[in-house]
Amino acid sequence: MDAVFQRCIDPACAATAALDDTSFVCPRCGGLLDVAYDWNRLRPPESLRFFEGKWSQRTEPLSFSGVWRFRELLPFAAPEKVLTIGEGQTILQRADIVAGYVGLEAGKLYLQYEGMNPSGSFKDNGMTAAFTHARMVGARRAACASTGNTSASLAVFCSATGLMKAVIFIGSGKISYGKLAQALDHGALTVQIAGDFDDAMLRVQQVAKKLGIYLVNSINPFRLEGQKTIMYRILEALRWEVPDWIVVPGGNLGNVSAFGKAFIELLDLGLIRRAPRLAVINAAGSNTFYQLFEKQGLRWNNGKPAASVSEAYYANLDANQIRASTIASAIEINRPVNLTKALRALDRCQGLVREVTDQEILDAKAKVGAGGFGCEPASAASVAGTKKLRQEGVIAPGERVVCVLTGHQLKDPTATVAYHSTDQKTFDEVLGKRGVRRAAFANRAVQVPNDLDEIIKAIEVYS
Ligand SMILES: *Cc1c(COP(=O)(O)O)cnc(C)c1O
Ligand SMILES: [Zn+2]
Repeated sequence: MDAVFQRCIDPACAATAALDDTSFVCPRCGGLLDVAYDWNRLRPPESLRFFEGKWSQRTEPLSFSGVWRFRELLPFAAPEKVLTIGEGQTILQRADIVAGYVGLEAGKLYLQYEGMNPSGSFKDNGMTAAFTHARMVGARRAACASTGNTSASLAVFCSATGLMKAVIFIGSGKISYGKLAQALDHGALTVQIAGDFDDAMLRVQQVAKKLGIYLVNSINPFRLEGQKTIMYRILEALRWEVPDWIVVPGGNLGNVSAFGKAFIELLDLGLIRRAPRLAVINAAGSNTFYQLFEKQGLRWNNGKPAASVSEAYYANLDANQIRASTIASAIEINRPVNLTKALRALDRCQGLVREVTDQEILDAKAKVGAGGFGCEPASAASVAGTKKLRQEGVIAPGERVVCVLTGHQLKDPTATVAYHSTDQKTFDEVLGKRGVRRAAFANRAVQVPNDLDEIIKAIEVYS
């Protein structure tokens, strides 16, 4: 057995696949795979403080990368195979204004700004890892289905390295302009399917298999290895203290699965003594995980969650033609491919799931923007969810909470401008049809005649 391989996540199956296998499904049961390590042969660090030494080596690309400076915890690639574009230079910000909004004490809420990645979302953390694996196996083309950010990330990795051709599947009319602009600008082959994300996801898997194209959706376990490092950077920013809660929006559930794996491994390696609790926040218009976990009691069950529960749920979606629908397009997904891995993460990290409405998401987003660097709608679900968990009393006011802000503010300016707009028609067209009724925290532009006295008067009145 090699020191690094792929292994079925079901402990009772535990079938393995070689490191260079690119089918990304268990050869025996068809389930999800993990990247697995024989740590006895890989010599992981004995303390997380080991990573502090990397700061003095920042002129080396691998130590500069916010992903690969932790490479001892995702040791699947030889250093010379790694493809990095400087991803993971992200910031954990204490956010007291937002803390006040959600009902936490000052100093207890932190925002992890993953929008500061090269393509503007956390997806770059995973893409550098998947891309590295793609290079290891000699891939020439890489494909994904995307609500926008995975495709933007793939496109920029392809254009910046010149090593592969990007093939992108998107649903029609669902992608925000910021994200579509990135795919087009970076020269990706963009295939717009008459359907939604769930349709595109199914097709890309079929096409990748038929044409032998490397698949970079989060069903790819190497992506999740890269996304583990978001947690390492949070711990690093907190001087290796474990927070009480990590709150993250849930779409395809790759992130929460990666975070769970990160903490399970850190515990197993004795590098932390306890894991934080994980909270996944769904949008109410695409709340499969919330329904299955909180309402129907679906659990990890040691690798065998009751298939009948999720099958019946999906059959009902189909029978009633229910489609995912939320302003938070990055989490507008009804069939999360990483469902079982996410259940494992919640099991091991005392996790839970909540749903928030588009109204709650946009109000929280406005608060994030007014109290920090800003984020796209899906990201603000984490803040809206934290507020809800505070109201329920599940999170205590003095607990330390990190909300992961998954994507950049400029990814979806349409939603932001509509929220702050004085024009009721714009508001209704973009937000009214989503059930958003008011913009409690709107910062409206002030209309003034082109006249110096009037301009001065307006500034004096409003500032
Ligand atoms: C992809 C994405 C998500 C959803 O993450 P999953 O890992 O699919 O659950 C949330 N927010 C943003 C901005 C994203 O791009
Ligand atoms: Zn299996």
